[in-house]
Amino acid sequence: MNSVSNKNGAWTIEDAESTYRVKRWGNGYFDIGESGDLMVIPRYNEPNLKINLREIIDEMQSTGIEFPAVIRFHDILRSQVELINKTFRNVIEETDYEGKYLGVFPVKVNQMREVIEEIVDVGKRYNYGLEAGSKPELVAALAYNTNSEALTILNGYKDEDYLRLALLGRKIGRKVVIVIEKFSELNMLIKLSKELNVRPIIGLRIKMMVKGRGKWESSSGERAKFGLTIAEILNAINVCEQKNLLDCIQLLHFHIGSQLTDIRAIKEAIQEAATIYTQLAKRDVPLQYIDVGGGLAIDYDGSQSTNDSSCNYDLSQYVSDIVTGFKQHCDLESVAHPNIVSESGRAITAHHSCVVTKVIGEIHPRGTEFSTKKATGEHIIVSNMRDIAQGLDQTSYQEAFNDVQALKEQAIQAFKLGVLSLDEIAKTETLYWQTLDNIEQIITNLDFIPEELKEIPELLSSQYLANFSVFQSAADSWAIDQVLPIVPISKLNEKPTKLCSLVDITCDSDGKIDKFIGEDSVANGVPLHKLSADEDYFIGMFLTGAYQDVMGDMHNLFGRLNEVHIFSYDDDPKDFYIEEVVKGSSMESVLSTMQYTPAILAQSVKKAIDKKIQQGQIKPREGVNLIDFYEDCLSGYTYLK
Ligand SMILES: *Cc1c(COP(=O)(O)O)cnc(C)c1O
Repeated sequence: MNSVSNKNGAWTIEDAESTYRVKRWGNGYFDIGESGDLMVIPRYNEPNLKINLREIIDEMQSTGIEFPAVIRFHDILRSQVELINKTFRNVIEETDYEGKYLGVFPVKVNQMREVIEEIVDVGKRYNYGLEAGSKPELVAALAYNTNSEALTILNGYKDEDYLRLALLGRKIGRKVVIVIEKFSELNMLIKLSKELNVRPIIGLRIKMMVKGRGKWESSSGERAKFGLTIAEILNAINVCEQKNLLDCIQLLHFHIGSQLTDIRAIKEAIQEAATIYTQLAKRDVPLQYIDVGGGLAIDYDGSQSTNDSSCNYDLSQYVSDIVTGFKQHCDLESVAHPNIVSESGRAITAHHSCVVTKVIGEIHPRGTEFSTKKATGEHIIVSNMRDIAQGLDQTSYQEAFNDVQALKEQAIQAFKLGVLSLDEIAKTETLYWQTLDNIEQIITNLDFIPEELKEIPELLSSQYLANFSVFQSAADSWAIDQVLPIVPISKLNEKPTKLCSLVDITCDSDGKIDKFIGEDSVANGVPLHKLSADEDYFIGMFLTGAYQDVMGDMHNLFGRLNEVHIFSYDDDPKDFYIEEVVKGSSMESVLSTMQYTPAILAQSVKKAIDKKIQQGQIKPREGVNLIDFYEDCLSGYTYLK
């Protein structure tokens, strides 16, 4: 049973927690405060430092920052980088593992400069590096990963320029590893390294036999897009040996997919990769690194299960399985323990940013009510509907539900045949929805709800209209049914009484969110509070820091969101300050990307207004105001005010 119809006693913070599972997906970074506001605990090692999200929103409003907006917590980003590095180091020490951990952050997961800067900065003391999968990402990585001890791992398909850039990195003293994804890249690389007179560091990506689990399971197996078969790996080694480049092959790479929901897939992959690693090491291939790729999952729905939006393990289990897996294999085969590289992106960045916006309206299936007063000579369907509505009581509700369903069908048929008038169909609609409303009131207080009546809350559920674009801010919700936690920012100490789905402001029917955290599996609605005319209702969409932040598109030309960067600060009464405001897209900037010239647009509208002024249809003063307004809009925010 969902919490909307939870009948016993007063609503508590614990009820809110079990409805929204803030602690469970929050990974220690989010909590519900006594005040009913959502709290952020941005540093993993300072649980008493809490920031009230409502206070951040208040400050944004008072400084005129418009919503929707991205709120980015740099401390969470730093915490996650520290946690993954510390966890690997601890497990390595505890198990007497002889290799080191040298992680890299995959730039594709969040390419924002501020994100990369923060990760590189906190990662310095761990020699934490970057992974690039394209030329533009490599161009950024070369400029930002300046630590000569940290790795720069290069994946993705490569052309000559990509490889030249990589070798440029070698020339300036960086540990750039070129991972061969496709056999032909090797010949190109050998030619270029000779030409530029520099020895590359080569990685070989294995086309894994083991299947990942979850949405990205096609990243491995025979039909995988990337990687070398065992035959190709052996050929690559032979080619390098002939060209006197065997010592350049230092890294073995695999990546079986993102958001790996089941720890068993990871264990199997380690087994396969470790077998290949030890066999190659015994053939005197001078490997030093094993790169386990990405895939470390996030528990978006807080179910700790193998649901697509969840996972059945945590960071310490993940790390422990990797380290002990390689240790056991290597010890058995008397091979030196390799340094371990991982490319976790989702797990590093998902928690650090969220999208906050206002609910600006409600779309109810019932619409506004029509007067149901009895008219003389009205059709029997209408009178029957009215009789049921008026006769509804504790004993007749189930029968009433069946009867109104049937009558509604009859009414539609009769209307199509021209037997019911417009007024009469409007009356039956209103009576139908009133009856469902009243039945819901009755069944909320029942211990047992008959199966067929369980659909009533959903039939009556509202769509809340929120000021955002799914295509910009939650691409994976639209594309792959990813569940993202959606929670009201305040009022969590009050019972939410409406089951809602969300629609966005794009004029696309796909612009909606109807998959939410549910009791056993995915739910079609999220419980939210009743809207009130004199109070803003803010909701947050969380865990958007990985992929969602940067995959947005220009659908309806809404463009990027306003953004604030929050730093925690103990000495501040509110424990935070807004370090930076990044302005979102203006109308002129999104129009410019589509080849419009804002000045020409303004000129054209001005010309049309001038003409009307000349013809005396618009007063000159009014005309000037209209032109000013048009120009103000051009420089304004694209989302609703
Ligand atoms: C996308 C990708 C990653 C990042 O995966 P996450 O699941 O986000 O950690 C790592 N390595 C490669 C090769 C990738 O393509």
